[in-house]
Amino acid sequence: MSIQTPSSPEHSDFIRDIVAADLREGRFESIVTRFPPEPNGHLHIGHAKSICLNFGIAQEFDGRCHLRLDDTNPVKEEQEYVDAIQADVSWLGFDWGEHLYFTSDYFEQLYEWACDLIRSGNAYVDDLTAEEIREHRGTLTEPGKESPWRDRARDESLDLFERMRAGEFANGARVLRARIDMASGNINLRDPILYRIVHADHPRTGDAWCVYPTYDYAHGQSDAIEGITHSICTLEFQDHRPLYDWLIENLPVPSHPHQYEFARLNLTHTVLSKRTLLRLVNEGLVRGWDDPRMPTLSGIRRRGFPAEGIRDFAAMIGVARADGVVEVEMLEHAVRNVLNREAPRRFGVLNPLKIVIENYPEGQVEQLEATNNPEDPSAGSRQVPFTRELWIERDDFMEDPPKKFFRLAPGREVRLRSAYFVTCNEVVKDADGTVVELRCTYDPATRGGSAPDDRRPKATLHWVSADHAIPAEVRLYDHLFADPYPGAGGRELFDDLNPDSETVLSGCFVEPSLADVPVGVTVQFERLGYFCPDPDSEAGALVFNRTLTLKDTWAKLQAQGRQGTV
Ligand code: ATP
Ligand code: MG
Repeated sequence: MSIQTPSSPEHSDFIRDIVAADLREGRFESIVTRFPPEPNGHLHIGHAKSICLNFGIAQEFDGRCHLRLDDTNPVKEEQEYVDAIQADVSWLGFDWGEHLYFTSDYFEQLYEWACDLIRSGNAYVDDLTAEEIREHRGTLTEPGKESPWRDRARDESLDLFERMRAGEFANGARVLRARIDMASGNINLRDPILYRIVHADHPRTGDAWCVYPTYDYAHGQSDAIEGITHSICTLEFQDHRPLYDWLIENLPVPSHPHQYEFARLNLTHTVLSKRTLLRLVNEGLVRGWDDPRMPTLSGIRRRGFPAEGIRDFAAMIGVARADGVVEVEMLEHAVRNVLNREAPRRFGVLNPLKIVIENYPEGQVEQLEATNNPEDPSAGSRQVPFTRELWIERDDFMEDPPKKFFRLAPGREVRLRSAYFVTCNEVVKDADGTVVELRCTYDPATRGGSAPDDRRPKATLHWVSADHAIPAEVRLYDHLFADPYPGAGGRELFDDLNPDSETVLSGCFVEPSLADVPVGVTVQFERLGYFCPDPDSEAGALVFNRTLTLKDTWAKLQAQGRQGTV
């Protein structure tokens, strides 16, 4: 068995150090991790951190990682989410092989073990209401109060638990609790609930069960069943670890996993909570779970972020035990790095202005060669049609340019990328004085973008042929939440939503080669940013999402000496 330590030290972290030491010192022959999402919503970028950690460790240390759907709450869970989770983990680039599991597959075993706990005096059926249990729990400074049912006979608890399972009691009538210590300084050890009565159909087990295990009870035991060696979760479970260990110690489980906690990912301008994301969907504030503004993996994918960029981001942020907030610009930076390297360059005009090249023959079409990616010569080139009438970006023209505006203006010559130099001779306006067309001339000697006399225009513009360009809708995105810390300072969370998070442009034009660019491919519209076709596209009605602009604000923040973590 080869033990690979992470190749570069910056990719190591305290969990990888523990795993490496466990292997080195022979505590385990090989390691098994798991990613255990609850199928009650779509995965988000925070989950990606956990996925990259769990699957990454398994890859690096030659172990394996299980995908376990933690489906213990039939009221909130749906098959749609189970499917989406699998699609998202695969898209991120990880493979669980044969190791797809469901906590619900362990319901029978978990029930048996719960009976064992009752028999050994470590659990009892409590008849208190949820409200009374809360009142008995005590506080951080005061001990809890024991339930009057705590010392009921084991046989009686066993009988009641069986009848709970058989469906004799209503929701909330009784619960099964561990019998630990109502005076414990750790509230999680004050006789935590192990089973609740929930009369609800389960997506997988149907109506077979009406008692369902709590997370605390199901999780560690599922880890033990699967032989998980390192059960990695976020810091909020730290105070649950003594309970995790207590259950493992008091049950005849086949293995003894250990829980390790790391800090969850928080991002500025972003809310990472499935509950909130579900609210955004249900209240119609976004186009769905996969809205390109959502921090879900499906949203990020639809937005055109490549999986590699997400994995790079996870490596950049690392894994630590200190909570922090990462600037969302850092995620964008990681994504831009990949796209800059890989995205094919294309021409698209978002806000078109017609130019007519008066000395170019009517009806003539030239196929000009344009480089696909200056960063990657192997990406080759493509042909773009050039004609007498073209669309350029309205912003690239000013009738009365200020000093530092070097783009097109009356009497001025600019370069059209991969084409010719053109000079604007006349500005055509409509009755309102709006510029509707520019009359230009071109210099046939500048084909390909350079002049025999070596003159160099100060600006190079993108363009598309008016006869060949394809109309498109383009959706521009900004932060979903305007404030970097949504809901901070006691503000209503949704008051921080950015009213301008989506801008829809219609009447845009893109070069003909974009007619059949498949969903899932992100291109660069030269000078404008990265764009990808949206699944809403139909033949003849293309829709593009702006993935990101070209401006790397994170690199700028770094240059100013700012940290990625705030
Ligand atoms: P949410 O709080 O968004 O509803 P959750 O923690 O309830 O998420 P689970 O499906 O229970 O979602 O999470 C699966 C795994 O992902 C858990 O191990 C959890 O610790 C981890 N995880 C969830 N959110 C984050 C995050 N923001 N950063 C890192 N890991 C996370
Ligand atoms: Mg959860």
